[in-house]
Amino acid sequence: MRAVLGGGPRLLLRRLREVMAEPVSAQARLDKIVVLIASNMVAEVCSVYVLRADATLELFATEGLNREAVHQTTMRSGEGLVGLIAQRAEPLALSEAQAHPAFSYKPETGEEIYHSFLGVPILRGGNTLGVLVVQNRARRTYSEEEVEALQVTSMLLAEMIASGELQSIVRAGADIALHRPIALSGSAISDGIGLGHVVLHEPRVIVKRIVAEDVNSELRRLEAAIEEMRANLNQLIDEGDVTGAGEHRDVLEAVRMVANDRGWMRRLREAIATGLTAEAAVESVQNDARARLQRQTDPYIRDRLHDLDDLANRLLHRLTGQSFVVDRASMPDNAILVARTMGPAVLLEYERARLRGLVLEEGGPTSHVAIVARALGVPAVGEVPNITDLVETGDAIIVDGTSGDVRVRPQTDVESAYAEKARLRARRQEQYQKLRDLPAVTKDGIEIKLHMNAGLLVDLPHVEETGAASIGLFRTELQFMLAAQFPRMREQFDLYRRVLEAVPDRPVTFRTLDIGSDKVLPYMTKLEEENPALGWRAIRIGLDRPALLRLQLRALLRAAAGRDLRIMFPMVATCAEFDAAKQIAAREITYLKKHGYATPNALELGVMIEVPSLLFELDAICTKADFLSVGSNDLTQYLFAADRDNKRVADRFDVLSAPALRALATIAGAGHAAGKPVTLCGEMGGKPLEALALVAIGYRSLSMSPASIGPVKATLIAADLAETEAFLTSLIGAHDGAHSLREHLREHAERSGIPV
Ligand code: PEP
Ligand code: MG
Repeated sequence: MRAVLGGGPRLLLRRLREVMAEPVSAQARLDKIVVLIASNMVAEVCSVYVLRADATLELFATEGLNREAVHQTTMRSGEGLVGLIAQRAEPLALSEAQAHPAFSYKPETGEEIYHSFLGVPILRGGNTLGVLVVQNRARRTYSEEEVEALQVTSMLLAEMIASGELQSIVRAGADIALHRPIALSGSAISDGIGLGHVVLHEPRVIVKRIVAEDVNSELRRLEAAIEEMRANLNQLIDEGDVTGAGEHRDVLEAVRMVANDRGWMRRLREAIATGLTAEAAVESVQNDARARLQRQTDPYIRDRLHDLDDLANRLLHRLTGQSFVVDRASMPDNAILVARTMGPAVLLEYERARLRGLVLEEGGPTSHVAIVARALGVPAVGEVPNITDLVETGDAIIVDGTSGDVRVRPQTDVESAYAEKARLRARRQEQYQKLRDLPAVTKDGIEIKLHMNAGLLVDLPHVEETGAASIGLFRTELQFMLAAQFPRMREQFDLYRRVLEAVPDRPVTFRTLDIGSDKVLPYMTKLEEENPALGWRAIRIGLDRPALLRLQLRALLRAAAGRDLRIMFPMVATCAEFDAAKQIAAREITYLKKHGYATPNALELGVMIEVPSLLFELDAICTKADFLSVGSNDLTQYLFAADRDNKRVADRFDVLSAPALRALATIAGAGHAAGKPVTLCGEMGGKPLEALALVAIGYRSLSMSPASIGPVKATLIAADLAETEAFLTSLIGAHDGAHSLREHLREHAERSGIPV
């Protein structure tokens, strides 16, 4: 078959390389290229179409069609055969083009006399930049080798387009697609707006050497690089030292599996045989995989293609010697990090001061990296499909972590709108800052204590910045979730001591390990449970594995030696569970005393109210616990039987409705009647309108994320509590059975001049 390729692809590549190096204009170069390709492939026609920013394909050069059509003929992506190729990012070979349903006739080109048609997308990093076409007068079938040869050739064109050289010849007023603004959206995972420039967490390798000097030496380079990479993967997996690079064993295992895939190796060797360098061969095979990835919706196949992409990246870095990690020192100071996925510890390695935002292809609101992004106050959007393929390092980009919108290479008006939004936010923050030292006292003189939720060392400076009354919830599991292995007693002790030292004058309420369900530890065998949210988690694990709980309690008790300590237990469903946990704590104190360790001056043990069964045992639990803390995230999830992380059911219920508010009021009432302090520490406490409702039904203490303290305080100090309480009580009565009371309450707040 190769005989038909006048001279074969290798010769073609060599000639093309010479043309690429000639000091001629972009148009002259393209004109020469199409002539070369046509003659090499024994085709009467060869044309290059380039995708413009307005999603139109423009004919840039042709051999065989009417020259007058160059820069005149255009088609939309999806229109005609060329448009179809661009849209699908797949080659198309036809012996009778005009019989294809997508064929669209462009009279100015004079192409009606050509019957066979072969077109391939011009791809770069999974993006379609254009389409390369050859046509023959005779009805003929293009061989697989010919399709591949044309694909390989298209890589050179991709480089040419990417270099920006063609921008000078595009039809006046248009822009080539490389610079196209793109609007994307994903899940809002960390509040705030960031404007800046793309920094790819895994910098993409730029393949500069495309054409091989010597095929055999390229094959040897490829084999050597693969061997080295395999050895390296084996070593990483065997030594178990996978976390240093922020990688998990299963990811590496998957990559190793692909590295041993014969089909993949064969495709690489074939690509080299056509005259590509080893790195260009990897890129060509990767382009193909990426294009397939963009169209693929099956999660299993997507995962496999991702593994393949991972592997190709590793190989490219090895072959070109280009760095695999961002050069942190040369990062711009308005960096927006873009990554497919990222471990939480890896995010912490970046210099916070230079980070303006984070965009991930994976990573939902409950992912570990999202938790860290929120703690760092970095605006972030997750679950943005293909973002790493759609951007280049240095591209302007905007991240709206509140709405989940991402704008790549935004137009000036979009950019100024967001800049204005960011300025407004900053101004509002300044106003909240002014409230920092004021107590949250309502207009009628009732003080509400506002505390802060925390879980990482990076959270601690926020206590001062926000003027929080205390740390009302310290989620100890975050240390466990970020660690590579179970934190030892010493590591737990160190963290707790540092927390207590950082807030010497305010209480800290530590919550014991709340793992299981969505909070997974990478080093713990994942249990296959039908309903993990209802399964083995939190205190249930603590009571079944008392050694674990004891170790943590010991670390806490020792860290708080000589001062007061508050501990609470999560997911308690019965009084008996609380009793059992309390007993374990008592045993630990006895143990420490017996062995001569200093213990806290006072120990208060609280219970989280987040399982509805406790609502029917409130009197009893109030006699046993020193304080109550309402975990409204879980409590509402169980009350309404609606997964807290499932967007599909999120609108099915509203916490601002009679049943939820009644349940919450019952808890506050029981606590007050028994003289036990009650705090609410779920997300709703940090939302101004919800906080207003909570205060109206009897809450005097709320714990929330640091960023919420300012807005909630601004709401509460503008409210007349007695009036709001009267309004809400009558509202519940008047609209009993309503899905939500939200709008009525909002209108009331607006009428009363309460900002919500
Ligand atoms: C809650 O459930 O409301 C809570 C505060 O705990 P978490 O969100 O950590 O489950
Ligand atoms: Mg909870």
